[in-house]
Amino acid sequence: MIENEFNRRDFLKVLGWSGAAVAVSGCGFTSVQDGAETVVSYVEANEYMVPGIGVYFNSTCAQCDAGCGISGKVREGRVLKLEGNAASSINRGRLCGLGQAGVQAHYNPDRVTEPRTGKGEKLDWEKALGQVKEKLTGVSGDEIAFLTGNLSGHLKVLLGNYMDALGSKNHYVYDAVAPAVVRAANKKAYGSEMPALRLDKAKVIVSFGADFLGSWVSPVNFSQQYAQFRKGVNNGGRGVLVQIEPKMTLTGANADRWIPANPGTEGVLALGLINALGAAGVSVPSDIAASVSAYGVDRVSKETGVSAEQIQKLATVLKERSPSLVIAGGGAEGYAHGSQNAAAVALLNQVLGNVGKTVEAPSVVPFPQLAPTAGGTTGLKAFNDGLAAGKFKVVFTLGANPVYSAPAFMKLSDNLKKASFKVALTDAIDETAAQADLVLPLDSAMESWGSLVAEYQADDAQIGIQQPLMERLYDNTRSAGDILLSLVKQQKADDYKAFEDYYAYLRGAVVQAKGALGGAGMDDDEFWNTVLSNGIVKTGNASSSLRASAAAVALPAAVAADSAFPLRLLPYVQPSFRDGRHANLPWLQESPDPLTTIVWDSWVEMHPRTAAKLGVVEGDIVEVASKSGSIKAQAYIFPGIHPDAVSVPFGNGHTTLGRYANGVGANVFQMLDPVFDQETGELAINETHVKISKVGQRVIVIKDEGAAGGSQAGKKIAGRVASNKIDLSKEV
Ligand code: SF4
Repeated sequence: MIENEFNRRDFLKVLGWSGAAVAVSGCGFTSVQDGAETVVSYVEANEYMVPGIGVYFNSTCAQCDAGCGISGKVREGRVLKLEGNAASSINRGRLCGLGQAGVQAHYNPDRVTEPRTGKGEKLDWEKALGQVKEKLTGVSGDEIAFLTGNLSGHLKVLLGNYMDALGSKNHYVYDAVAPAVVRAANKKAYGSEMPALRLDKAKVIVSFGADFLGSWVSPVNFSQQYAQFRKGVNNGGRGVLVQIEPKMTLTGANADRWIPANPGTEGVLALGLINALGAAGVSVPSDIAASVSAYGVDRVSKETGVSAEQIQKLATVLKERSPSLVIAGGGAEGYAHGSQNAAAVALLNQVLGNVGKTVEAPSVVPFPQLAPTAGGTTGLKAFNDGLAAGKFKVVFTLGANPVYSAPAFMKLSDNLKKASFKVALTDAIDETAAQADLVLPLDSAMESWGSLVAEYQADDAQIGIQQPLMERLYDNTRSAGDILLSLVKQQKADDYKAFEDYYAYLRGAVVQAKGALGGAGMDDDEFWNTVLSNGIVKTGNASSSLRASAAAVALPAAVAADSAFPLRLLPYVQPSFRDGRHANLPWLQESPDPLTTIVWDSWVEMHPRTAAKLGVVEGDIVEVASKSGSIKAQAYIFPGIHPDAVSVPFGNGHTTLGRYANGVGANVFQMLDPVFDQETGELAINETHVKISKVGQRVIVIKDEGAAGGSQAGKKIAGRVASNKIDLSKEV
């Protein structure tokens, strides 16, 4: 396949293996799951296809970045259902609801199916890619920017090579709901951004706002560990879970004890627990003990709102049930002092001696060039600053919808207009694609070749392989890999002439490294088919280590709330919608929120005491206004939220994402205030303060648990209520 004059070093570079540990010994492959005779590569599908009999093909879920393996049931050439791939060490045969909905992303009737201009004129691929080449002519690398979601695997390599070829260093990675502050705190405390968390080995878990059963990092992996933790498989008895968060999450609802500490006081509570543990005889380094001496139980109780008795009990449980595990999550990091909160929680882990027991060195794929580039909101800010300064002429977006998810204060939509040519690689005309000058339509994950390396690996590090589960539904969509390969060929034709398409590129890259990937002794076809059959490649773990560098944490003094905006807004990352990109999937709209059971809408969650003070009852339409914007949504009265806060889920409120998303609910991203974590610069999503007012309308809240005022869930009923907004105030 490779022509003789094609230099081997260049070949390795374009494939992403240069400088890689290609000599790492592989650890072989997992065996295929039960029903192995039906788990085959699609390359050989025809001989196995029997009408009426489903055939399973292994691939990788692309609905989030957790990298779960999937097994797609295909009948008569159509993918019908997804299951978890049992061979994947991340999800071991399980799949979450969001992953299941990957099928619906594939069949979504609002997919964009052909390249088109910003005015909606259809183009063929030659013309579309020709436009990109033409617009890049005479433009310097500094004037080109590429905004993506988190990227890993060979797509990341290819994009890096494309940006190099353009002479641009402006690749920005954006994830609106990333654990970016926790990553940075972990790096400082443990030397690793994402250590392995052994929930299964802990006798007690204290989670400071980490919704690890719902939406945090790798929920399918954590759910399985949690089952073991509860059954006492590896920890000698049923584990105890304590969840500390002012807005109850799915994890909080499963906890033995849910403690709604005052918002933002997670760090105070963690330092108070260290102090209490020291007083109870746990060995605490003297400098740390001195630094937390001011956090006596009475002060901590006053600041956090957690009773002195509960703090003492918590310290006792942590002392007696060793090893424990404490985790900082989204609920603790979204403040101006989020870094200190996360650092205080990490310090508590260190004092408890959990590092090396339940906080372990991570499993790491031994190919750093394939490792994920995980972003946060600082990537978006840098991108937006460049736009605002008029620095960029040509802008690409892939896997990110910043016009929807950037807060209004950034004025990103206006700033984007300063770029003269905007290219959106997308599967739907979302809010960002609607502003693009050129839309390049993507294949679905069920139609694409690819590779994915998850940030959080389980015990055995692996590369997820994505393969088409069926033929393209539409002739004129292309995978992101194929588009990038075409673009990079425009700049470096000779380097990539060996690769007719992204399939050839990916296959070449994987087969080239077969010796390091457990395929020594196999011929190329045999190895490649084994890889596809498994849907993953076990890579063996690169060496990694953790340190426990306990350092004192200084927390800032609490800031008094602005009386004009007396309530804190705690936006909620819903397990189904995450940053909102999946709001166009009716299965997810129809799936009840795990806490409220609400479907097909947004809601404003408030405590019964708060609601009573405001004279609000369930179903009242209320305006939630911050200094930066406002939304209107139905009220939901719920004791699982702190009385000083209200919560609205992220994800809805789209204007151009298709028939199932447009006009459903409200976009809470838009009203966030410009407050940032002081150490990392990440947007502090829990630092927006709001006031609530009734607008004089009331609706039936559509939810599975049954509404106050009647009714039950269902698309027809929900659609009726959402579109007509029945005014019950006139009826009750
Ligand atoms: S956690 Fe993410 S990768 Fe895993 S099944 Fe769910 S959506 Fe897919």
